[in-house]
Amino acid sequence: MEKKRDITENIDTSKDFKELRMEEVYKGYIQQESGQGYSCIFCGEYFEEGLIYTSRERMVTAEKAVIEHIEDEHGGVFKSLISLDKQISGLSDIQKSMLIAMFSRKDVKVIGEEMGISPATVRAHKFNLQKMKREAKIFLALMEVIENDSSLNNQCNTSIDEINKKELANPTGEDVFSLNLLHPFFTQCRYK
Ligand SMILES: [Zn+2]
Repeated sequence: MEKKRDITENIDTSKDFKELRMEEVYKGYIQQESGQGYSCIFCGEYFEEGLIYTSRERMVTAEKAVIEHIEDEHGGVFKSLISLDKQISGLSDIQKSMLIAMFSRKDVKVIGEEMGISPATVRAHKFNLQKMKREAKIFLALMEVIENDSSLNNQCNTSIDEINKKELANPTGEDVFSLNLLHPFFTQCRYK
């Protein structure tokens, strides 16, 4: 059997990770723009549309072949992403441990026992991960707007100084930037 590849060294360089769409990152493969096939984002292996592949001792389509390739060769998308170097993922060891425990659907108490921390600390880590998720979505959306909005006359009339001043002057208040007036999507950070 082929030796497992080192994922961090073999990320498909034909499309930089930052250029991948969210959907492509969590699926683990990209569909070529020409629609002619699929490439694994972790090693670049290409599966051509219209060809029949042999996977798990039966014949499958190209898309099914790339999905099974990711599971069989890389141990699945979760394992591939969580194994990425800190330089790429930005995740600390404790964050990775928490995500692995959450992926295994482990109970807070069990996670605490395994990691040698209290259930309250586990809940705090989970809360921080949910907070990171929300912040990452907002950041991602801002970057998408910047990169995809082609209007020539974009203007944001509010400067960062004005935003900060409003927050300071009116920390609880009636401003659009106040958490109180935002949709519950942005204000509810519940434990799951
Ligand atoms: Zn691969």
